[in-house]
Amino acid sequence: MEVVVGVDLGGTKISAALVDESGNIVADVRCHTQVEKGREFVIEQLTKTVGELFERAEGLGKRVLAIGIGSPGIIDPDSGVVVKAAVNLPQWEGISLKRIFEERFNVVAFADNDVNVMALGESLFGVAKGLKNVIFIAIGTGIGGGIVVDGKLYHGSTFTAGEIGHMTILPEGPKCACGNYGCLEALASGPSIARRAKEYIAKGVATSLSELVDDEITCEHVAKAASKGDALCRRLLEEAGRYIGVAVASLMNVLNPDCVVIGGGVAQAGEILLTPIRHEVALRAISPAPVLQSLLRENAGEIGAAALAFSKLAEKD
Ligand SMILES: [Zn+2]
Repeated sequence: MEVVVGVDLGGTKISAALVDESGNIVADVRCHTQVEKGREFVIEQLTKTVGELFERAEGLGKRVLAIGIGSPGIIDPDSGVVVKAAVNLPQWEGISLKRIFEERFNVVAFADNDVNVMALGESLFGVAKGLKNVIFIAIGTGIGGGIVVDGKLYHGSTFTAGEIGHMTILPEGPKCACGNYGCLEALASGPSIARRAKEYIAKGVATSLSELVDDEITCEHVAKAASKGDALCRRLLEEAGRYIGVAVASLMNVLNPDCVVIGGGVAQAGEILLTPIRHEVALRAISPAPVLQSLLRENAGEIGAAALAFSKLAEKD
């Protein structure tokens, strides 16, 4: 049987897997990204990880057809070149991820932005399976997005399409990492939710979070407390959900998708976050589409990268 290798290159870890044409993981390898040792070292880590998977494939009697890579930053999908590196992988600008793998492993390789490939993964193998027009939003440390139109990723003219986290939601809102004010990311990312929690605690609002040290409060703490009924934490997630819902409704009005998939760590909060998103969509979207929780979750990166490889191979046929 035939498989592809899907690689998720991240600032903290590299996850790679052999994935079959139904999107099942046949084997996987993970390692900690040692960014501090420099780019060449990380490239060695990447090729060693993928090399291990080629050996595993041989042992299993499976042929590797292609390699797909999801990377942070802005990626030219044709050349596989990192056009603009992400802050957590600063030395990657100008290198072709595609070429590194093709030269080393002698199979075709394809590279794209990590959240873009997750969008493709959800539409090929995940909760949006079989749907052609899909918007994926990853809500975690930041907020990223990917747009699938007619079964293919939409990149825009300079490959930056899908930066949903930097849609302005509140023009006078809090400052965003990008330098602007009131971006969705500054209102609804994990760190933004945690920051709001700390602000309320400082004002003396009662919450079970107060038992924790202020500095250590994360969005996971907020989500956990909310699931146990903490009123402030529920309110914080509902507030974030409303902002996300405003953005999602606008996206629906512009792109008229089949569905919108919400993923990333913050999405693990589930219905507490999804209900206010759906509420805003019902109020604001001209043609409301389903808002679904990601199915691929922690494997979204590798399976998404594999989806990129499979869809590119299908384009060539
Ligand atoms: Zn921004």
